[in-house]
Amino acid sequence: MKPAAKQEKSYLWHKISTVMPNPERYEGPVTFIWDYQHEYMVRCPRCEGPALVSCPKVSFKPVDPDKERVLCLKCGFSRLANDVIRYNIRVKRACSHCDHWFDVCIPNNKEKAAKIRLSCDGCGAVEDLVPENEAYRDLYTDERLSDPLFGLPLYYQAPIRNDVLWAFNKKHLSDIRDYVASRLRERQTMQWTTMVEKLPHFIKDAKNRDQILKVIDRMLEIDAYN
Ligand SMILES: [Zn+2]
Ligand SMILES: [Zn+2]
Repeated sequence: MKPAAKQEKSYLWHKISTVMPNPERYEGPVTFIWDYQHEYMVRCPRCEGPALVSCPKVSFKPVDPDKERVLCLKCGFSRLANDVIRYNIRVKRACSHCDHWFDVCIPNNKEKAAKIRLSCDGCGAVEDLVPENEAYRDLYTDERLSDPLFGLPLYYQAPIRNDVLWAFNKKHLSDIRDYVASRLRERQTMQWTTMVEKLPHFIKDAKNRDQILKVIDRMLEIDAYN
């Protein structure tokens, strides 16, 4: 082969190899963990089936409370996020008539209280006092891997050796899968650290690849949307 023809062939090969998509290269979207946190797949508190918790976020605007809810895809169980808000009604102050100190907490109220009536243990005077209403969520569980509005356990979670693989929702899980399956992982942006780059070491570790793919595929096979 003449040197010129050889050169041309190698140029062509270079051109083809740079244009052809590499199936083992990670080409997923540039996403961050918060891009997945508008929707959580959880276990329904009534039937244990898959349920969706919606947490729509529209930049800095307040969220429409009717849109923050859980809906079971199996039994239809539904509840608004506001329904699990409770108040601790608290009074911490001195009596107006003596030096007795009120330190009262009435826990677990569905409604706020504007005033509460207390009688003083020191002088017997009865007073209407303005309390503080401390809001909290009466969560279903205190599990770490749960949604933030109801505390329901994440649906997609599975043990991998001594760790747990988990995902907020189906899109999150399948984006993790694409990353695990790829053998060529280049940085997608130099400016930020993306969701896949922040994955824990055991997920990125090549020696766990086959096991993780098998576990994810099993979770994705259970078609949670039907
Ligand atoms: Zn259900
Ligand atoms: Zn008093």
